Amino acid sequence: MNQFGTLYIVATPLGHLQDMSWRAVEILQTVHLIAAEDTRHSLPLLQHYSIKTPTISLHAHNEAERIEQLQKRLQQGESIALISDAGTPLISDPGFLLVRKIREVGIKVVPIPGPCAAISALCVGGLPTDRFVFEGFLPQRSALRQTRLAQLVLEERTLIFYEAPHRILVFLKELQTVFGQNRPAVIARELTKIFETILTGTLLQLYEKVEEDKNQQRGEIVVLVAGKPKNNEEEITAEITRILTILLAECSLKQAVDITAKLTAFKKNHIYEIALKMQKTV
Ligand code: SAM
Repeated sequence: MNQFGTLYIVATPLGHLQDMSWRAVEILQTVHLIAAEDTRHSLPLLQHYSIKTPTISLHAHNEAERIEQLQKRLQQGESIALISDAGTPLISDPGFLLVRKIREVGIKVVPIPGPCAAISALCVGGLPTDRFVFEGFLPQRSALRQTRLAQLVLEERTLIFYEAPHRILVFLKELQTVFGQNRPAVIARELTKIFETILTGTLLQLYEKVEEDKNQQRGEIVVLVAGKPKNNEEEITAEITRILTILLAECSLKQAVDITAKLTAFKKNHIYEIALKMQKTV
């Protein structure tokens, strides 16, 4: 049996110090080393819980270099905890490269679960929670953002985004362009903190509220967008018919059905039945 140490992935509060789990405190007190996204940022939390364990930085810019060093220490039998500035490490935070490598070399990785802004927002937003998609931060470059959003047009699951406060208004505009003004959405701001606010409404209503109240353009923000409503039978048939009309003038029935299925994600059998009916009526 090897004598390797364990890498713990420890969630820490989003803002409220009491959201730390007992187990998280115990692990941080007893490991040999804490790898923190920003050691200075984590200091008040560690002091609050009398955690005197040595810390080392592990952030987006040094993660790749740190891996070898941490791997060596784990292989020598030391245990290490990874924490980020807030919430769950690896969720829009560093740690993925480390975890992948440490698992590859056969060292145990153990989660110490706790706060996560995405899940906290989802739980209070009032949008469906049975199926959801975490998109995190969109790319900063406008063209890349548009592409990513365009890929989500047909998404039926609740969408979860992280966004910086100074971009929230622009983001709400971009969302309206892609999903329409009437799509239900939620802005969850400053969760677990003094100015915690949950705003609900359509994308247009939220835009108006945030534009009017500058306070809503401050702090940390999660945006939820309801998934695409399921089309009713009539709308589906109309959409399929519209596309098939164009395609049947250009290609074979099979090709037209295949392309329509790809474009719409509707069932091929259903598209085929409509195509046959259309051919009979010509
Ligand atoms: N690892 C964190 C987690 O588990 O949610 C996320 C870290 S990411 C660098 C920071 C982003 O998470 C913020 O820009 C915001 O979108 C979201 N966030 C973090 N804390 C939040 C809070 N208290 N309220 C709302 N959103 C928060």
